[in-house]
Amino acid sequence: MSDIIKLLPDSVANQIAAGEVIQRPASVVKELLENAIDAGASQIDLVIRDAGKSLIQLTDNGSGMSVTDARMAFERHATSKINKADDLFAIRTMGFRGEALASIAAIAQVELKTRTHDSEYGTLIRIEGSVVKSQEVNVCQPGTSFSVKNLFFNVPARRNFLKSPTAEMRHILEEFHRVSLIHPEIGFTLVHNDKEIFYLMSGSLKQRIVALLGNVYNERLLHVSQRTETMSVEGFIVKAEFARKTRGEQYFFVNKRFIKHPYLHHAVENAYQELLPRDSFPSYFLHIEIDPSNIDINIHPTKTEVNFQDTRLVYAVIHAAIKKTLGQFSLSPRLDFDSGEAELNVDFGEISRAGRPVTRPEITVNPEYNPFTNPIPVNQEWQKKQEIPTENWRLFYERQKTKEEQSEAEEKTRPERHEVVRLLQIQNSFIITPVKSGLLVIDQYLAHWRILYERYMKQLDTLRMGSQQELFPQTIQLNAGDAELLVNLLPDLMLLGFSIETMGSRTFVVNGTPEGVTDRDITAMIEHILEMYKINQTDLQLSSKQNLARSLSASLAVKHGQQLSDSEMNALIDQLFACEIPQLAPDGTKLFNTLTTEQIQQFIKQA
Ligand code: ADP
Ligand code: MG
Repeated sequence: MSDIIKLLPDSVANQIAAGEVIQRPASVVKELLENAIDAGASQIDLVIRDAGKSLIQLTDNGSGMSVTDARMAFERHATSKINKADDLFAIRTMGFRGEALASIAAIAQVELKTRTHDSEYGTLIRIEGSVVKSQEVNVCQPGTSFSVKNLFFNVPARRNFLKSPTAEMRHILEEFHRVSLIHPEIGFTLVHNDKEIFYLMSGSLKQRIVALLGNVYNERLLHVSQRTETMSVEGFIVKAEFARKTRGEQYFFVNKRFIKHPYLHHAVENAYQELLPRDSFPSYFLHIEIDPSNIDINIHPTKTEVNFQDTRLVYAVIHAAIKKTLGQFSLSPRLDFDSGEAELNVDFGEISRAGRPVTRPEITVNPEYNPFTNPIPVNQEWQKKQEIPTENWRLFYERQKTKEEQSEAEEKTRPERHEVVRLLQIQNSFIITPVKSGLLVIDQYLAHWRILYERYMKQLDTLRMGSQQELFPQTIQLNAGDAELLVNLLPDLMLLGFSIETMGSRTFVVNGTPEGVTDRDITAMIEHILEMYKINQTDLQLSSKQNLARSLSASLAVKHGQQLSDSEMNALIDQLFACEIPQLAPDGTKLFNTLTTEQIQQFIKQA
């Protein structure tokens, strides 16, 4: 048999290689944009026709190319950016593989006009399917202009495979965003089918974000800045309240190169924690600068993946940076309860701010006080409030203390009582109370869920045993899967106040439960917790502690339909606003809102 192995002709080899680098018009846009940036351009103009199928034209005012370089640029592995293998570890340019132009030329009709700044004339090269059609001297501006026409003209399978113009254009816009966002110092224009889409002037990163995404971003952005010896993170995040329902504006850049990095994404998401409303995604524009020798970019032909030498360090720095920014920007609501005569202007926003030191209010007795001229609130629950650190409470305690000194008889003759914070439960589900700006409406279940959740998280974190209520031991039987899960959760359940023993592989004896668990069917409750735990496990990426705290608190929180006494409502509100994040349930749903006076007025007019 004769020899059958042959070398592929260059044109075919290039076509095959092109498949890796150029998947769609947007890939061409990306490569041309990157080349223009590497050439040091300060202005880049992009013209697109038919979502890039018939024309992609990019003009820059960068370095331009000499006659020889212009011809060389289309050779495979031709690059001016790397000389030796070592250079791979010091890459500061966008490109370095020397594949893009060879690939593009293999599958399109390309025209290159280029001129260096110190030469009088430029070069015009026409190349189609890797075949040079012409090369001539040309009169043009310094810089480079590429026209890429009829992409995939010689690869019909690919051309037919392209998506709708809208979809392809979306990809192009995404590439345009990725490059122009992190180069705000460069001016960009984008024209599609003769329509100007973007006219971006050079400016700051914030100006660029706003120019690309809209003026509303002016108030949405929070500045992020963190430096360590080995790296820095700079950029912007969007306030949690403007989080989007779709994953969209999530941009990581490493040394000015857009990258995707699920692990680092998690660092951001995790820093927002429960501030994000349910099913929302944080938007961010973050630039990581790090010594190129600490990263490896070369793991993907389109270079959107990067390996860090110390990913955990990068994670920690990003996490800390976002936390710091979110912490500086207080996300707690500021509520002024309308306290009537008692003048109890408690700023719960202040109280609830995480990490604030809690001090006991000073209690002094006012001997002048006469309960008959100034009715005071009477509510046992209020006496538990001593940890609330606001000057305004002083007045309250003053009265409370004096009150305790009144005799029983006096008590009975007191004028009509009323609450400091007047509370009303409606439908056994919602608590409403007047506040300075209108009417505060709270969902009792979500509020209690939040309270218990934070309590359990603290218990799990501090490794302090939760208080247990003795029970008449109850035996529960679980299926094999649930039994295994329960065994895994036992140590944490113990911290939460459960006392559970294993009796054989699927039988358990419950001797104690957390405080607050009463007359309940223990089996049903445990099953409910396990069920929620499993759902959370598949739907959400929660830590096991978060998941357990969340499942247990959801299970034990007072439900809608449960009547609450005044003191219970008081305690609920009190505890809620002592929470770190009083405004959201653990799943991110808003749990209260204020009906403003204007809204009430509007509403009345309507009716
Ligand atoms: P790479 O960018 O990986 O080096 P390319 O195939 O994209 O490979 O480009 C090959 C070479 O052509 C580059 O290294 C550069 O020297 C030159 N080049 C490409 N585009 C431009 C441009 N817009 N201006 C100046 N030189 C360019
Ligand atoms: Mg390139």
